[in-house]
Amino acid sequence: MEVHGRVEDLRAALGSRPRPVVFVPTMGALHEGHLSLVRVGRNWAGGAGTVVASIFVNPSQFAPHEDFDAYPRPLERDLEMCREAGVDLVFTPPRDVMYAPDASVRVLEERLSQGLCGRSRPHFFGGVCTVVAKLFHIVQPDAAVFGEKDFQQLAVIRRMVRDLLWPIEIIPGPIVREVDGLAMSSRNQYLDAESRRQATVLHQALGLARAAIQGGERSSVALKELMETHVRTAPLARIDYIELVDPDALTPLEMISSQVLVAMAVFFGSTRLIDNLCLRDLTA
Ligand code: AMP
Repeated sequence: MEVHGRVEDLRAALGSRPRPVVFVPTMGALHEGHLSLVRVGRNWAGGAGTVVASIFVNPSQFAPHEDFDAYPRPLERDLEMCREAGVDLVFTPPRDVMYAPDASVRVLEERLSQGLCGRSRPHFFGGVCTVVAKLFHIVQPDAAVFGEKDFQQLAVIRRMVRDLLWPIEIIPGPIVREVDGLAMSSRNQYLDAESRRQATVLHQALGLARAAIQGGERSSVALKELMETHVRTAPLARIDYIELVDPDALTPLEMISSQVLVAMAVFFGSTRLIDNLCLRDLTA
């Protein structure tokens, strides 16, 4: 496995590697969720090709009050995990490689990024689109893998690639969970023991919604109420949002018909956790 921090070095290394090139962008502090994306990418390439991962904590997707400085950066451990997962090339650019001090161009998606996480983090998707656009130009992958845990991010990136006519296939990777159901996240390590214990309410609330929908409940108000009541059983939880939206347009649904994305964000202290459930092909 080669590790490069400079664009020219990564490009030179890619020149002698087999295609297809599959790209897995990350902010590091890797866990099994990230590694599953590496496997999804390798499978997409038929077990061959070249898998490139990037590790870059992207400053432009953090608001000033958010956790950019505190974000964990266990680089040596991350590289070891990449090596074990069979990554071929890792791109670890320093900040000044990705952003000139007077950088003044941003890439904005203007529809799918408005609701859900975009409402409480208005800067976030602009930062994500901008850095992913740069990374795509550097790596020039045939495909890139994004986790369904960040469902809205996956949708926004798909839209960016479609609308800018980039020949990159966006591959979804399923949500990887801890044994008790909590979606894996680099931010879970911020949780103290009691918050960590209570954080299972997100997954449990989604399970209640799933059961109710499968039992015939179609009203968003009723489903939200059911979920909120459950999340409130965790005294340390503070709901940012619970929403039922169309999984393609991400627009709110009053009544569910054939498909739904149930998405939620919940704070424990200053740690914000997200999770979701996507159901398609529901019969009325
Ligand atoms: P991050 O390092 O948090 O920016 O995430 C990098 C990629 O890993 C994104 O595509 C995430 O959606 C994905 N990811 C993070 N956590 C999980 C998880 N628990 N399951 C699947 N994918 C994940």
